[in-house]
Amino acid sequence: AKHEGSGACVLYRHELHLRAIERNTIERDLRVAMARNELKLFYQPKIDMATGRVTGAEALIRWRHEERGFISPAQFIPVAERTGLIVPLTKWVLDEACRQNREWQELGLPKIGVAVNVSAVDLKRTDLTDTIASTLIRRGLSPQYLELEVTESMVMQDVDVVIGTLRRLRGLGLGIGIDDFGTGYSSLAYLKRFPVKRLKIDRTFVSDIADGRDGHVIPKVIIDLAHALGVMVVAEGVESADQYDMLRDLGCDEVQGYFAGRPMPAAEFEVFLRNSPAG
Ligand code: C2E
Ligand code: CA
Ligand code: CA
Ligand code: CA
Repeated sequence: AKHEGSGACVLYRHELHLRAIERNTIERDLRVAMARNELKLFYQPKIDMATGRVTGAEALIRWRHEERGFISPAQFIPVAERTGLIVPLTKWVLDEACRQNREWQELGLPKIGVAVNVSAVDLKRTDLTDTIASTLIRRGLSPQYLELEVTESMVMQDVDVVIGTLRRLRGLGLGIGIDDFGTGYSSLAYLKRFPVKRLKIDRTFVSDIADGRDGHVIPKVIIDLAHALGVMVVAEGVESADQYDMLRDLGCDEVQGYFAGRPMPAAEFEVFLRNSPAG
């Protein structure tokens, strides 16, 4: 048993070591990628269920590594958070998303909000509000066309500090969306203290919404709660017509997901937006 135990231990240390190497590799390569402008933003539409119109786009970062191909943000964002690289990364995402949205407006396309994901590290920085304010001015974008997505679990750490930051951001005139709603440790009572514009129902709830059992219960509670507080609801990860219909019946305001449109490069999104129902 002793032998077995130490063997497992060696394997475990080996595994940790490999992960550390992987992390260092990602960090080093990510620095290079940032310097060489190899990161891109893709845009995924948010659709108003009542009108079918595009009301917004979520900016999602894409990194195509020269040797390894696409690396998922789920893999490199956590590394960027641990190493502090997330700070310049978020600045770049904000700048690029605002620049792009302004460009679409200047082309005369329907005006939409662009949503940027911010991390817990960003949210705790006292200069976030200034960074955003100066980005909006530099890019000539009116604040109502920028939205920040923060996750429910981020908001739950340091509630008082975060509420202060969110209030200042809201004061700038931009919208705050709570991402992955329903998965965190949210106390529903806190929700009314947050200056929130949208709740995003997490994909995990959407995926079993149309399974005929009680999959609709949690989405319904979230939608009713949000509406009672005057907050809009967007469902993420909507992949099928059944899910879409069910969400519409439950009174959901907007959807995002492969069913309505995948994340796409800016040029492709521009065509999508051009073809969106007018009004
Ligand atoms: P998220 O904010 O929850 O973004 C939604 C994720 O779901 C995206 O994955 C999107 O491509 C994917 N998705 C959209 N529709 C569907 C669908 O119908 N079905 C399925 N199965 N998936 C769908 P992605 O782009 O790989 O991003 C993963 C996560 O990485 C994001 O989750 C977000 O937390 C983070 N992330 C992405 N871009 C950024 C960024 O610029 N900054 C920061 N801080 N985080 C980012
Ligand atoms: Ca998001
Ligand atoms: Ca999400
Ligand atoms: Ca999610």
